[in-house]
Amino acid sequence: MKMLVDSFGRVHNYLRISVTDRCNFRCIYCNPFLYYKPKKELLSFEEIIRISKLLVDNGVEKIRVTGGEPFVRKNLIQLLEKLNELNIKELNISTNGYLIDKYIDDLTKISKLRKINISLDTFKPEKFEFISRVSENYLSKVIDNIRLASKYFDVKVNVVLMKNINDDEVFDFVDFAFENNVVVRFIELMPMKGSIYSEQTFLPYTEVLEKLKEKYILVKTEDPINSTSKNYLVYKGRNFICQIGFITSVSSPFCSTCNRLRLTATGNFKPCLFSNLEFNIKKYLHLPDDELLNLILNCLKLKKYIGVNMTDNVMVEMGG
Ligand code: SAM
Ligand code: SF4
Repeated sequence: MKMLVDSFGRVHNYLRISVTDRCNFRCIYCNPFLYYKPKKELLSFEEIIRISKLLVDNGVEKIRVTGGEPFVRKNLIQLLEKLNELNIKELNISTNGYLIDKYIDDLTKISKLRKINISLDTFKPEKFEFISRVSENYLSKVIDNIRLASKYFDVKVNVVLMKNINDDEVFDFVDFAFENNVVVRFIELMPMKGSIYSEQTFLPYTEVLEKLKEKYILVKTEDPINSTSKNYLVYKGRNFICQIGFITSVSSPFCSTCNRLRLTATGNFKPCLFSNLEFNIKKYLHLPDDELLNLILNCLKLKKYIGVNMTDNVMVEMGG
């Protein structure tokens, strides 16, 4: 076994697989109306499993399935079942939540699936339509599905906060976390290609923290070493309300502890969200495992310590 280590000594044990570049939503910070790649260019399930197994055999312990919207990939459950058989500790999903009810029974049978991240940026139907660019009628289903998923899984609700768009709802999210026993994580808007990111829309997490402190007592927790989230326990007086987190990729990047590898739906191996560094692994799948692994390690050696940076990366293709 070779460790997946870069030239800064960072060990990579977390793989994020984007299983499709398609999405049933078109969020203003993520999906800039690009044409989708032809389906024949996508990695097949067999190809995803082969690459994942190679990475798992060399140190990956945790896999997150993402997209685009993972549930729009046909037969996703079959892929999850196969990934579940790999020698990993955790298998997680990020989703916009809209299709969860359709698959909930199947999901509960996947033994390593414990954590589901569900995106929700607003409780207001009109704003939901503005942000996700689908009908406001979808909102109630997303909320119902968060409640449904939280009966079976650890659910984290991911909220991309945007100044003057949805930052008036931070207290509503704390109430929601309390009422539904879920963790809420406020994500700083990132400058991805085609995203609504600008000086006018970006909101640093410190401002949100200060706002929350007006009403609550926030106690910082000790975060796991590779955590991308700064986590807090929220109290009102002596009463525990909920746990929240801040994903501060822009104002306070976490490059020093980055342990993440990314595989896009078309097979681009990307060790960094804020870099154009990548190679298309699909083209090399005729190679034996040891040669494939060398290509991966060589790419990893070029991984830098970039912080936040504007690139040609489009979030809906990368999977967050
Ligand atoms: N469709 C799924 C979802 O929405 O959760 C999975 C893919 S989505 C690309 C993964 C995460 O990236 C979501 O939580 C989304 O809010 C976040 N995201 C997308 N674009 C972003 C941006 N420009 N800045 C910050 N977060 C972003
Ligand atoms: Fe789709 Fe998720 Fe991107 Fe929204 S954030 S467009 S739901 S992939």
